[in-house]
Amino acid sequence: MKQNHSLKIRFSVFLSLLFSLLILCSCSVNVNQNGDSESALQKDMLNVHFLDVGQGDSIFVELPDEKTMLIDAGENYHGEGIKNYIGDCGYSKIDYLVATHPHADHIGSMAYIVRNMDIGSVYMPKAAANTKTYENLLESISDKGLRVTSAKAGLTIAEESDYTINVVAPVTIDEDNLNNSSAVIKLTYKDNTFLFTGDAEKKELETITADISADVLKVGHHGSTTSTTEEFLNAVSPTYAVISVGEDNSYGHPHKETLALLEEFNCMVYRTDIDKTVVFSSDGKTISVKSGEKSIKKAG
Ligand SMILES: [Zn+2]
Repeated sequence: MKQNHSLKIRFSVFLSLLFSLLILCSCSVNVNQNGDSESALQKDMLNVHFLDVGQGDSIFVELPDEKTMLIDAGENYHGEGIKNYIGDCGYSKIDYLVATHPHADHIGSMAYIVRNMDIGSVYMPKAAANTKTYENLLESISDKGLRVTSAKAGLTIAEESDYTINVVAPVTIDEDNLNNSSAVIKLTYKDNTFLFTGDAEKKELETITADISADVLKVGHHGSTTSTTEEFLNAVSPTYAVISVGEDNSYGHPHKETLALLEEFNCMVYRTDIDKTVVFSSDGKTISVKSGEKSIKKAG
C-alpha cells in the first residue's frame, strides 16, 4: 500500500516535469513557415535605448524593421562603449545617424562611430562649430565618402508603413547659440510617439509648428530650465520624460524647477544619472520601460 502511494507520487512528479518542459519549449522558440526557428519576442518591436553616457546625450533606436538610428554620441571617450553596446544588441550598422548639434557632449564620439561602424545616412543641422571635435567629425564623414543631409524642420528621415521619423526643428539656424539649432526628431510607431529635443531651448522650441504631442519626451538640454516650459509641456503632454544627465555635473542639471514642472504634469521621470541606461520598448500600442541597464559611462 505504502509502495503504491510513493509510486503515484513519483508518477505525478514525472507528469508535472513533462508538462513544465512542454511549456518551456513552446514559449522560447517560434517556428516560421520556412521551418526555421526564430525568437518571437522582439519581432515588430521598437526599442529606444537612452544610453548612460554621463553628462551628454546618446540614444540608440532599434526600429521595427531592424533598421537602426543613433541620435548623438556623447563625449569623445564613449565611442568604444557605444559601439559595443550596439554590437551586443546584434547590430553593426547605423542606418540613420543624427548629430543634433555640434557640441562635444553630443558629437564627441561620433567620429569614432563613423570610422568604426557601417553608416547609412548622416543628418546634421546647418550649424558649424569652430572646434577640433567638429572638424574631426566632418573629416570622418568625408573620408568614408558619406554626405551630410541638412536636418531642418519638414525633413522626413524615414517613412515606412508602420513608422515615420520626422525632423520638426530647427525652423531657423541660430548662429549665436548652437543649442537653438538642435535637430528635434519625432519618431512615430503606430500609436506611440517619441520626441528627441537635443539641447533645444525655449526660443527654438517656440518656433515648432508641427504636432509634437508624444508619449516619451527626451527632456531638452539635460533638464535645464532654459528648455522645459509649461507651454512646451502642454504641447507635448508626455507620459514619460527622460533626462540624460551626469552625476554631480557642474551645471546643476537637472534644474529643480524642471523636475517640479515635470511632476506637475504627472510625468514619469527617468534620469540616466540615477536610472543608468533606460530602455523603452513599444509594440506600437503599449510602452514598457526597463532601467538600470548597462552603463556606457567612463571617466574622461
Ligand atoms: Zn548637451
